[in-house]
Amino acid sequence: MQILDGIAVSNHIKEQLKQEVQELKARGGKTPHLAALLVGNNPASEAYVGSKVRTCEELGYGSILLRLETDITEAELLKEIEKLNDNPDVDGILVQLPLPKHISEDKVINTIHPDKDVDGFHPVSQGKMLLGQPGFLPATPYGILLMLEYYNIDITGMHCVVIGRSNIVGTPMSVLLSRNTKPGNATVTLTHSKTKNLKELTLQADVIVAAIGRPRYLTADMVKDGVIVIDVGINKVEDSSRKSGSRLVGDVDYDHVAPKCSYITPVPKGVGPMTICGLMKNTLEAAKKK
Ligand code: NAD
Repeated sequence: MQILDGIAVSNHIKEQLKQEVQELKARGGKTPHLAALLVGNNPASEAYVGSKVRTCEELGYGSILLRLETDITEAELLKEIEKLNDNPDVDGILVQLPLPKHISEDKVINTIHPDKDVDGFHPVSQGKMLLGQPGFLPATPYGILLMLEYYNIDITGMHCVVIGRSNIVGTPMSVLLSRNTKPGNATVTLTHSKTKNLKELTLQADVIVAAIGRPRYLTADMVKDGVIVIDVGINKVEDSSRKSGSRLVGDVDYDHVAPKCSYITPVPKGVGPMTICGLMKNTLEAAKKK
């Protein structure tokens, strides 16, 4: 069993990006610039946005973090996004999800200019992805592809079972794994909360991508020997042995599933750092287009 080490892979990709940015600047090109919007003070969102902004600094990108009150109206938030759309210095816009219930995530995503949609959530980005046209790929599935590429894992012809059909992870992942690209060319089954025979399907899988949001949901009896497991889930569970009283676990029962795997991503330090790499690669591409 080999652990797919998100920290090692992301460090490797970040070194490449740092160098590319330096070269871009030396040629008189534009410094990539990411604008992050955080609404409210959800601690998990604070942590995610914080590490994205820190990574920008590490890579030599510019960044701004706009902190907005929880009770900001939808119209006010859309106005902030439009200002960033019009700001020529800003290459990428990221709105940290989830948003408060009174704000439509769809409206927010649709308002980001497609040329600055570095999270890859806009309908234009998703449409291009579906058609195999160049564009911004959703950051998490993009990061997973980068990881498969780094470890030279060829999934051609394999049966991949994706668990979860969200617009930001499961659905785009299923599209990307089945495209005629490398990594790609897999036969994909997309499963979700209404799937009746999940275990029957996962037992047939050569690759499983779990993006559900349920702690340790995928158990050892649901996977065959030699399976490749990509665990996207981030779930906080109680842990009295920790000072904080909690810790993060994935959607996979790691301790029991890992021994059966050929490859597996841990949580934390698996897919999380790769998502940031996807975002950073998209932001650099956005700056280069200018
Ligand atoms: P979501 O809540 O939008 O979607 C969850 C999906 O899981 C739904 O499509 C639902 O149908 C499916 N599902 C729920 N219960 C199921 C069941 N019993 N069997 C089969 N399918 C079931 O979640 P999301 O935004 O896709 O995120 C999923 C998880 O991944 C969360 O834990 C989230 O925190 C995490 N996440 C991690 C990263 C990262 O960078 N590592 C990025 C995004 C999301």
